[in-house]
Amino acid sequence: MLRMLALGIDCSYVLLTTENKANTLLDHSPIAATQQAPLIDPYQRSIEYLRVSVTDRCDLRCVYCMAEDMTFLPKVEVLSLEELDRLCGVFISLGVRKLRLTGGEPLVRRNVLWLIERLSRHLKTGALDELTLTTNGTQLERYAEDLARLGVKRINVSLDTLNADRFAAITRWGDLSKVMAGLKAADAAGLKIKINAVALRGTNDDELSDMVAWCGERGYDLTFIEVMPMGDIGEDRLDQYLPLSMLRAQLRQRWTLTDLPDRTGGPARYMRVEETGGRLGFITPMTHNFCESCNRVRLTCTGTLYMCLGQSDKADLRSILREGTDHEVADAIRDAITRKPKGHDFRLDRRHQGAVDRHMSTTGG
Ligand code: SAM
Repeated sequence: MLRMLALGIDCSYVLLTTENKANTLLDHSPIAATQQAPLIDPYQRSIEYLRVSVTDRCDLRCVYCMAEDMTFLPKVEVLSLEELDRLCGVFISLGVRKLRLTGGEPLVRRNVLWLIERLSRHLKTGALDELTLTTNGTQLERYAEDLARLGVKRINVSLDTLNADRFAAITRWGDLSKVMAGLKAADAAGLKIKINAVALRGTNDDELSDMVAWCGERGYDLTFIEVMPMGDIGEDRLDQYLPLSMLRAQLRQRWTLTDLPDRTGGPARYMRVEETGGRLGFITPMTHNFCESCNRVRLTCTGTLYMCLGQSDKADLRSILREGTDHEVADAIRDAITRKPKGHDFRLDRRHQGAVDRHMSTTGG
C-alpha cells in the first residue's frame, strides 16, 4: 500500500478492505445461509427480495422525488458499509435471494464498490441469485465495467426524457450527456439495461411513445411508473399525475402491445411491443395494486426496515445491529416481517398529497 501511495494511487479501497478484515474478526457468530427458516409473512408471501438504500444523497433533485432544498442525514446516522454488508448477510441467511442497491443515488456513496464486492461473495456461493442496482446513470461511465466484473448482470436506469433541456428541468440541474455516456459504458460492459421513466402529465407525456422506439432500437426494456404521493416536494402532485391506463391507450395508437405473463413479484405488468420486440412494463401503484404477490422489503441507509413502500410502519434494525448478535438481528427481522401489511393504499387527491411522509429517496423505490 505504501508503494501505491508513493505512486499516487487512491488507497481508500485498500484501507477499507483492511479495516473490514478487523471487523470480520469481531463478527458476532454469523449465521450460515442454511441455518434459517425462510421469511414468510402473515399472508403467506415468501420474502426473498431486499432493496437497500445505501445513501439518502443524490446528485440530482428530480422534481417529483425531492424538494430542491433537501436536508440529508448526518453521517453518524448512516450505517457504515461494513454494517450494511453484515445486515445484508443476515437477510441472505434468512432466504433473501435478490438484492437491489438503490438510494438516493447508490453510485454517489463513497467506496460503494467495496460493498458490492463484499456482497458479490453471496453470488459465488449461490446464496444470492441476483445483485443489482437502480441508478440515475450519471456515474455509470466510471462504474459500469466494475459492476459487470463483480457479477452485476443488469441494472435499472431512471430516465424520464431524452431531451437535454427537459432533463435539466426535471432533475433541476442534471446533464443528460452524462447519462448517455453511462448507458454507452454499461452497454460496452455487457450489462442488461432497463429504463424506468416516471410518466409526468404535461412534462414528458408527449415523448413517451418515442421512448418506446428509442429503447426498442437499443434492446433496452422500458418501464413506465405512475407518480406516487411520497414526501413533500413543494409542488402539487396532482398536477404531475398521469394514470398509465391513459398512456397505454395512447401508445396503442402507434404500437401493438401484447400482454406477457412475466411476473417479478413486483407491481409491474409487462407487454411485448410487437414492432420492436421490446418488453414494456407498467407500474401502476395508484390505479391498481398488486400487493398479493409482494415478495419485497426495503432497508434504508440508517438501518430502518420498511415492510411496505406505501405504509409507514417500520422496524429499527440499527440499534440491534450495533449492540446485538447476528441471531438477535435475525429475530428482529422475523418480528418485523410478522407486521408486513397486506398492501398499500396510496391515495392522490387535493387532500392527500403525501400518502407517506418520507421521500422516495429514503427507500429508493
Ligand atoms: N437514484 C436512483 C435512480 O434515480 O434510479 C435510485 C433512487 S430513485 C428514488 C428510484 C426511482 O424512484 C427512480 O426511478 C425515480 O424516478 C422513482 N421515483 C422517485 N420519486 C417517485 C415518486 N414520487 N413516484 C414515482 N416514482 C418515483
